[in-house]
Amino acid sequence: MASNLLHVLPPKGLLQPLAVPERLLLGPGPSNVPPRILAAGGRQLLGPMHPEVLQVMDDIKVGIQYAFQTQNQLTLAISGSGHCAIEAALLNLVEHGDPVLVAVNGIWGQRAADIARRLGASVHELLKPPGEYFTPWDIEEVSAGHGAGPWVQAGPGVSHLPLCFTQGLIRHKPSVLFITHGESSTGVLQPLEGLGKLCHRHGCLLLVDAVASLGGAPIFMDQQEIDILYSGSQKVLNAPPGSAPISFSERARKKILRRKTKPPSFYLDMHWLANYWGCDGEPRRYHHTAPINSFFSLREGLAMLAELGLENSWEHHRVNCAQLCQGLRDLGLELFVKEEVTRLPTITTVRVPEGYNWKEIIAFLTDNYAIDISGGLGPSEGKVLRIGLMGCNSTSRNVDRVLHALQDALRCCHHSKL
Ligand code: PMP
Repeated sequence: MASNLLHVLPPKGLLQPLAVPERLLLGPGPSNVPPRILAAGGRQLLGPMHPEVLQVMDDIKVGIQYAFQTQNQLTLAISGSGHCAIEAALLNLVEHGDPVLVAVNGIWGQRAADIARRLGASVHELLKPPGEYFTPWDIEEVSAGHGAGPWVQAGPGVSHLPLCFTQGLIRHKPSVLFITHGESSTGVLQPLEGLGKLCHRHGCLLLVDAVASLGGAPIFMDQQEIDILYSGSQKVLNAPPGSAPISFSERARKKILRRKTKPPSFYLDMHWLANYWGCDGEPRRYHHTAPINSFFSLREGLAMLAELGLENSWEHHRVNCAQLCQGLRDLGLELFVKEEVTRLPTITTVRVPEGYNWKEIIAFLTDNYAIDISGGLGPSEGKVLRIGLMGCNSTSRNVDRVLHALQDALRCCHHSKL
């Protein structure tokens, strides 16, 4: 029935059926969701305090402890994407004026520095060009600067970056060091050995981003003395985006307890989340209506990882990445990360070949092969193509498919208008 009350009509687009094409997601994430995980997310809802949901959360907690290789009690999933986990980590740890050291060799360090600055931290950046990693020496003392290349361009809110020499733990005495294990914008796998001990020697907590690497490359939270570790649901775990595993060591938990001020977010306040996740020994209380279906999916993603076994998962990713790298070289493409040991097994970067427009290559793969790969991001934008093989998508068959599609693209897109 027509009515004069409504000034905004039902949108025409919404009256059409939902359109979601089939696509093989071989970019830096998300990766395709296998039927078991999709089905879990499609189950009927329950309430956020129903015992069956609390049980699923308990399953998630032990699944994360396994994936992270940690016994930390303060282990849970944030209701939000990977960015939400970066914010949760920093805003619970950092208070106004706290010195924070951020290792920046790609976009994730840039983003962490931006977030820490918004929290009023005194942020110092250690800079490396995209494609490179940090040695313990870089982190402890002096990292020789590389001049004002494009990689030192400031992100939003990042105004004064050092151009020549940056200094590390000794000079700045930070309370937290942020570093990225799997730098998905550049394809670098950061070696973590010894960093936890080093940080602790300097009274600093080690915060590691493993969104793009968890399950694809070895990481041992307790043995490597990592204090805060977080990841995402949509990469190797093959669940939809929207929930982010995170864990805090006893050192990190105590630092949160010693805060003089409340964390500036209620939603991400770790006191509340610890209680809702049953980490504090108190009766569990409602905090927010969690993304319950996302938790069902995350549970199944973690269950599949547990069934496969971490070591098998690392090995799959290693072998398929090696096959991909060899195939890319055979196509005449140049790998962006020079040293094999620091190549991220989940996301491989190749330089955009001369005489090609990277956007055309990507569009060609989407249009002709229904395969999604990606261009660079942040400091690697325009320089690289990124090919992801994560979780169930990391198969020899998918390597063959993407190599075949790229070979065709290299034939058809040459001498495109640049
Ligand atoms: N860190 C890394 C290493 C990532 O690859 C990503 C996602 N590409 C994020 C953080 C942010 O995660 P999200 O997009 O889920 O917010």
